[in-house]
Amino acid sequence: GSRLEMLASLIRDVPDFPQPGVVFKDITPLLASAKGFQASIDELVASAPADIDVVVGMEARGFIFAAPVALALGAGFVPVRKPGKLPGDVVSQGFDLEYGSTELNMHRDAIVSGARVLVVDDVLATGGTIGATARLLEQLGAELVHVSVLMELEFLGGRARLESLGIRNCSAVL
Ligand code: IMP
Repeated sequence: GSRLEMLASLIRDVPDFPQPGVVFKDITPLLASAKGFQASIDELVASAPADIDVVVGMEARGFIFAAPVALALGAGFVPVRKPGKLPGDVVSQGFDLEYGSTELNMHRDAIVSGARVLVVDDVLATGGTIGATARLLEQLGAELVHVSVLMELEFLGGRARLESLGIRNCSAVL
């Protein structure tokens, strides 16, 4: 509908960022729009299953969307962070980037075993980030109920990668 067209129009294509040949989807115009930001959160909230205990968001852009979704759902918010940022005992999961590799951390005591978790991020690209997050949740014994992203870059095959990890409940607003 027109709400989705409005949201799509607020995402800017930036060619050759962060490197030549990549077209970066810049969500900052959407965030700067009161209507756009509100509509994006409303759509993510509408995509969430019932009875979510915790919304997990990934550093850094994921935080912007995951925290308001958590508030709207009456759920807690738990951050997934880059190494060296969390002060407590962490679980860690490495994953491959296009060049090299990195890891993501989550506090070991952040989520109780069996909690119903919704993962929220801005963009699903290759699925590496969400895949690593799913592994972190596995380590904690949490139940990954659903993944909601604002935008999916279908040509990068992220959804297939997630399906290969057993993650089938994934929805994209755009
Ligand atoms: P992945 O390839 O699915 O792991 O995406 C990695 C992360 O990079 C995601 O958490 C996104 O936030 C971010 N990302 C990848 N491509 C884009 C883009 O075009 N615009 C904004 N963020 C992106």
